Amino acid sequence: MKKSILLAIDTSCDDTAVAVTSGTTVLSNVIASQTDLHRQYGGVFPTVAKQAHKENIQPTVTAALRRAGTTWDDITALAVTQGPGLAPALEVGITAAKAYASEHNLPLIPINHLEGHVLSVLAKPKPSKLLEVANALSIIVSGGNTLFVRVEKIGKYTVLGQTLDDAAGECLDKIGRMLNLGYPAGPVIEQFAKLGNPKAIPFPLPLTTTKTYDLSFSGIKTYTRNVLEDKTVSNPLTKQELYDFCASIQFAVFRHITYKLNKILQNMTFSQIWLGGGVAANTTLRRMIRETIRANGDKVHNPKLAVPYSKKLCMDNAAMIGVAASYKLKHKTDNETIERRPRWEVEKI
Ligand code: AMP
Ligand code: MG
Repeated sequence: MKKSILLAIDTSCDDTAVAVTSGTTVLSNVIASQTDLHRQYGGVFPTVAKQAHKENIQPTVTAALRRAGTTWDDITALAVTQGPGLAPALEVGITAAKAYASEHNLPLIPINHLEGHVLSVLAKPKPSKLLEVANALSIIVSGGNTLFVRVEKIGKYTVLGQTLDDAAGECLDKIGRMLNLGYPAGPVIEQFAKLGNPKAIPFPLPLTTTKTYDLSFSGIKTYTRNVLEDKTVSNPLTKQELYDFCASIQFAVFRHITYKLNKILQNMTFSQIWLGGGVAANTTLRRMIRETIRANGDKVHNPKLAVPYSKKLCMDNAAMIGVAASYKLKHKTDNETIERRPRWEVEKI
């Protein structure tokens, strides 16, 4: 049987992403970033994203094929992100994928973007077998989503808790705008936090009295605005105050996540724990999650936290979409019925 080689497309937000994958092996993973275009708005502007995706898609597909050392003749199926995401942005990827599928007579596999993030830890740089997994806990922390997902098996997911308002990355980006740190602010806050004291400003911990595993970051944002207004009444922040501020905010955001993770681990057991999404690139978050797992040693069979093998696989990318699709090669979908699903929940796959 001919080996499956997939070309995967993700245009769910502000990155035009195309990858070529075979099973869980990543042959190429190309991302045309629109960050510079959106910087002036301090966030993603949907119509600007749509136009940029339209311009970027063909060159990104060409680059992904070339970097993988493949041509269209090698590709056996296409995969595309169907949702969740920004509707106008999703539309561009789906329309392009349908056109490529029709031109090259290929099946098209629709993928949930969050399932992609969940399975991003399974992507490998070298050839390896498709693993089956049962009862893992996936923690997704990104610019658009923050949630705890129980992976009953690959393809069957239960959301244990999720943010009720902003995502963690979105919260860091919005606070970054208050502090004039540029966009996206998460990586800058990480660097400044290394020079500051995380205990300098004691932030209140959100949702400690609720029994759910849900999260909320909007209070941290409001608290930051109030503290900042008080602190800067007479003088702007000194450099050290800014570093302390970043360290304290970052600690507050991550402490909230690990507080809820700890609650989950007190009540459930898992085979392993996975971390994905753009904020998963942050080394302090990884350390705090590892410490929480260690404190609940008997609750996780394999206590080693699994993270994607590169930071490029943490942020929005199409390699994770190809990896998710590799588990669905036997599903048959009529290409023409694939429409965008901007609010598609990962439980409803
Ligand atoms: P995504 O939505 O998965 O593409 O991830 C983008 C989000 O991740 C943005 O909100 C970034 O600010 C955030 N981010 C990226 N790198 C880091 C980092 N090292 N620390 C914290 N946040 C980060
Ligand atoms: Mg994402």
